[in-house]
Amino acid sequence: MSILVFGHKNPDTDSVCAAIGLADFKKKLGEDTVPAVQGELTPESNFVLEKFNVTAPQIVTSYAGKDVYLVDHSDLAQSPDDLGEANVLGIVDHHKLGDVTTSQPLECWIWPVGCSCTVLKSMYNFFNVDIPKDIAGIMLCAILSDTVIFKSATCTAKDKEACKDLAEIAGVSDMQELGMDMFKVKSAVDGTPARELVLRDYKDFDMNGNKVGIGQLEVVDLSILDKVKADLEKDIAALKQEGGHHSIFLLLTDIMKEGSEVLIASDDESVLEKAFGVAPKNGKAWLEGVMSRKKQVVPNLEKAFA
Ligand code: MN
Ligand code: MN
Repeated sequence: MSILVFGHKNPDTDSVCAAIGLADFKKKLGEDTVPAVQGELTPESNFVLEKFNVTAPQIVTSYAGKDVYLVDHSDLAQSPDDLGEANVLGIVDHHKLGDVTTSQPLECWIWPVGCSCTVLKSMYNFFNVDIPKDIAGIMLCAILSDTVIFKSATCTAKDKEACKDLAEIAGVSDMQELGMDMFKVKSAVDGTPARELVLRDYKDFDMNGNKVGIGQLEVVDLSILDKVKADLEKDIAALKQEGGHHSIFLLLTDIMKEGSEVLIASDDESVLEKAFGVAPKNGKAWLEGVMSRKKQVVPNLEKAFA
């Protein structure tokens, strides 16, 4: 039985591409690995795979009894519901350490960098394994996506260095252009139901006993979202009801202006002011310079809830 390699729920481009890349890498070291995803791919991920002619991983939702590698997460909430019945062989990630535990020693590569694929690139280097051209291309895209083309507060020198090498291997001469093409695909919202947009890049967190949901849509220009904003506000209010959340925040990130408008559905909106020093008006606030959920939004909200 093959070892399954997969990323978090609501897979983003890093979760997809790091799973494909780690499966390739482990295969070359003699392990029988295949990539998987926990759900449907986003338009951005489909664009990236098509661009470099890489087959999409199979969707797998049950992992009981399987050997697995996790990429791009180590939180139980982000893992399959039956992860407890799987055997975790290793984790390749770049988030804060989560609550996944194992019964045996594991291989763990968790670095404070902008993308799981940056860690994976270092693994290929460490073991002297060549990165195939197509996989270099999708890893490059994952890093450009996670770091918002190097603009995110999570971006490090290691990410930039990895991109330089990967671009060379993949034959990409203009990373900026590739990144913008990708974000244009990501920005397209026409005809997409509000719930799908809210959940496209969405995570639930436990903040001091409060269930807090944070979603994010990254666009090249906020005006793209003008038509759907009212529907998004309605939908996060509904989602809050359904899920029994204390708060749901939806970040509408303008990658060119380098800030986020946050839409709020909350039992107590003042947590936002406590976290960012900005008072919300009509369930919204502009957070200048805030682009990273992981590095800016989650830590500040956790402090506000503490
Ligand atoms: Mn991710
Ligand atoms: Mn990531």
